[in-house]
Amino acid sequence: MNPWTLDEIWLMRLKEEGAIHLIQMQFNEWIIEIDLERTKQYYSNHKIEEDCSCLYCDNYRANCEMLSPPLKEFFYQLGIDPRKEGEFMDLNTGDDKLRSIQGMYHIVGRVLSGPDDLDSKWNEIDLIKIDTYKFGFNRQIYCLPEDFPTPTVQLDFTAVIPWVLEIKPE
Ligand SMILES: [Zn+2]
Repeated sequence: MNPWTLDEIWLMRLKEEGAIHLIQMQFNEWIIEIDLERTKQYYSNHKIEEDCSCLYCDNYRANCEMLSPPLKEFFYQLGIDPRKEGEFMDLNTGDDKLRSIQGMYHIVGRVLSGPDDLDSKWNEIDLIKIDTYKFGFNRQIYCLPEDFPTPTVQLDFTAVIPWVLEIKPE
């Protein structure tokens, strides 16, 4: 019996050819394998102007300019520029000053093992917690930009952030 899937054979071949450089990382119960160079490349080529420019996304991006060192480090080691690409949904909590955010980023790579079914089990999973952020790696992919390289891992998150723009939310 052949234990390898076609996908794995394809990945092994690309690795042997030196076409991809996959790095394994562990976060809580997740083991992921990511292509840091291609992820970084995607984020550095991606233009913020292509993303949503509503007040809520602007407020999220303004918060990204003042992330704590551990949060910066977390995004950095995954090759993500937190101001870019992702989906940031501002959930109206009725509080103008503190905003509840739910969103996602994408990474080139895959989940090797770890909790699954994030959509329905978010509150039961040992999420990665940094400041007010909670993160989990999702095998389900939503809202992937057409030009994002595959294979893809989705990084889901929730956060509570202040409203920092001069202009008030609607
Ligand atoms: Zn927006």
